[in-house]
Amino acid sequence: MTVEKALAERSAELASNYDKIWQQVQNKAKGRQVRLVAVSKLKPASDILALYEHGVRHFGENYVQEMIGKANELPKDINWHFIGGLQSGKCKDLGKGIENLYAVETLDSLKKVKKLDNARQNAKLPPINIYLQINTSSESQKAGYSLDNLEEIYETVEYLKQSESLKLEGIMTIGSFAESTSDAGINQDFARLADLKKQLDEKYSVDLQLSMGMSSDFEAAIEQGSSSVRVGTSIFGARPPRNGH
Ligand SMILES: *Cc1c(COP(=O)(O)O)cnc(C)c1O
Repeated sequence: MTVEKALAERSAELASNYDKIWQQVQNKAKGRQVRLVAVSKLKPASDILALYEHGVRHFGENYVQEMIGKANELPKDINWHFIGGLQSGKCKDLGKGIENLYAVETLDSLKKVKKLDNARQNAKLPPINIYLQINTSSESQKAGYSLDNLEEIYETVEYLKQSESLKLEGIMTIGSFAESTSDAGINQDFARLADLKKQLDEKYSVDLQLSMGMSSDFEAAIEQGSSSVRVGTSIFGARPPRNGH
């Protein structure tokens, strides 16, 4: 292991932040199983190692090369989640780069699913869990399958049923800033994702997981059925700008 250790003070801070969020997750989950994915993008491997030593095993990353680099130097029983925007051209690297890649949560087209599937198959690595990203807010700047074209989602689900390298675990959304910060009661984006789950569960006799909720809205997301929340800032603190911008 070549990763430098975090300072004792930093390790204690991370553990305390994580425990606080974990407690909030449990309070909202009311006995349901809800996973807390620690989103470590742009944070040093030493931070991840500190939380690993605290018992955390699920980490989320947004950039393919950064995640591969970290996965190579960190313990092999970490469950990595890729949660960043995925370009077609990166599917191959993602599929073959990390043996212990647990999930890719941001697939938004059948074309990318096929590319990732082929890469994983050729690399002869263990299967990856897949979440289809859904653009529940219909914002043009957001990635994800459109809810206006369910056929495209069905086609992908049907393709995944036949795959040996990719396993459909759930659906994911980011949700709009407006919904996340409104106090008008339920978050409509989360409600749309929960509705889609219900529909897919019935159509395909499955029980899909729901990945929704971040630092600002994970409690609301759990109340609306989320089974996997992705929390970065509240655990690691504010992120540095990417590439020094
Ligand atoms: C960065 C990121 C998160 C974590 O966001 P925070 O607000 O820092 O908790 C969660 N999900 C996705 C898709 C992200 O890109």
